[in-house]
Amino acid sequence: MVGRRRFLKLILGLGSVGAGFGWLNRPPLVGPVMLGQASFESVAATATTRPPPASAPVSVSVQPIELLVIPKHAWGAAPIVGTFVEHEITRITIHHTASLLDDNTDAPGRMREHQAYHQQDLGWPDLAYHYIVDRNGHIYEGRPVWAVGDTSTNYDPAGHLLICCEGEFNSQLPSEPQLASTAGLIAWGSSKFGVGLDTVLGHRDLASTSCPGDAMYDRLDSLVTRSDRLLGDFGVTLTTLDDRSGLVVVAEIEAGRV
Ligand SMILES: [Zn+2]
Repeated sequence: MVGRRRFLKLILGLGSVGAGFGWLNRPPLVGPVMLGQASFESVAATATTRPPPASAPVSVSVQPIELLVIPKHAWGAAPIVGTFVEHEITRITIHHTASLLDDNTDAPGRMREHQAYHQQDLGWPDLAYHYIVDRNGHIYEGRPVWAVGDTSTNYDPAGHLLICCEGEFNSQLPSEPQLASTAGLIAWGSSKFGVGLDTVLGHRDLASTSCPGDAMYDRLDSLVTRSDRLLGDFGVTLTTLDDRSGLVVVAEIEAGRV
């Protein structure tokens, strides 16, 4: 449970930073690399004034990056239709929604539209993807990770952790907050499910589609490098917000404050 006041302070504090709301318990720094540098600079400053004995171990307290996820209830998800098929995650695939999103205040509404399209038009039980990242780096809960995703293209999504970014990346660029949260999700998924970062692919690597768009596809290698660095430096955890905190965040997103 994240208290409402603390939560508001947190998300408002991070809102203009560019790292997105996905990072919890972090000072307003642009990314994990800067955070790491800050930590070590701090250690170096201490060492200058009072160097430890050569034999003493230098202890640096590094806490994992914690990703926050907006729960389905908070973004207004409809109930599941039908049943899921269970699977075990063995790889990670990156997607885009293929819908231009310029105004991120529309992001929660887009989530509802995507889910309605997937359920009502395509006949799927739920949103196709497990996690969705909006333009400001907010992460939304999709289909349960234990359930196989869905696709209308010619590959089998069984075993895939499906991470989808809001946008149309053949004609717009992924934002920095979006890339930061996506790298965090990739790192978390790799660690959580014990799948190597070498399994990370774009949808177009597997099926006849332009997904995840040229601009995102071109950044996959750097995303994986970034994920690897996160795992090496900090580790990544993921927390799904309780519904009440999630509703507060969605209201802030729709008001354009985060
Ligand atoms: Zn896709």
